[in-house]
Amino acid sequence: MRTKIVAGNWKMNKNREETEALLAELSAKLPDTKAEVIVAPTFVNLETAQRSLESSTIKVAAQNMHFAENGAYTGEISADMLLNLDVDTVILGHSERRSYFGETDELLAKKMDTAVAKGLKAIFCFGEELEDRKSDNHFSVVESQLKNGLFHLEASAWKNIVLAYEPVWAIGTGETASPEQAQEMHAFIRKTIAEAYNASIADEVSILYGGSVKPGNAEEIFSKPDVDGGLIGGASLVASDFVAIINAI
Ligand code: PEP
Repeated sequence: MRTKIVAGNWKMNKNREETEALLAELSAKLPDTKAEVIVAPTFVNLETAQRSLESSTIKVAAQNMHFAENGAYTGEISADMLLNLDVDTVILGHSERRSYFGETDELLAKKMDTAVAKGLKAIFCFGEELEDRKSDNHFSVVESQLKNGLFHLEASAWKNIVLAYEPVWAIGTGETASPEQAQEMHAFIRKTIAEAYNASIADEVSILYGGSVKPGNAEEIFSKPDVDGGLIGGASLVASDFVAIINAI
């Protein structure tokens, strides 16, 4: 049985008071669910979030981290700093990190090495751009993102990896991959992992879909057999919407 996960990526939103208010509302409305629920506030609010969720099952993740142990990397955050706050999950490779901050597959491979070495759970994001889909290259782009970012890892690393397929053209655009497009790609991802590793790793890894998931479309997307939940951006900033999406799983 794969773990079902609904994770909210808050990006650069919510100050401390807003973080406390959203988490209080979310905790109060959280349905009884077997799914793992994760929120990823900004670095500066991780501690506030941990404190706010002390008696909650909701987990806190970071949105990024540096690959180095420590040192002269102004503005960056290390794995140990996250672990020191009891944050054991990190989102890596989000398309905004790739496009606005120049994060390459090679850099992400190093970040994954660090996450694995430190025992962090990584939510590894990847997905094609619109031109890739239009030119029918979406499968090969996704395959190379997986290969370059992840396939150098030992099989044992996969117990701490969650995948998030996020077609770039669907992120924050209001345009969603159809449930069929999501299922087709998730099945392809699983097949690619089975070929690189083995069927049991492919079968056990949770693959989330991300890209304009909303209360109105979540149930249909989550009903697909290879979709194990969602990475939610905009809709995770509104407690009632996020709760509706959790209810859809
Ligand atoms: C995201 O940023 O990971 C995301 C899926 O955003 P949105 O849900 O707003 O499209």
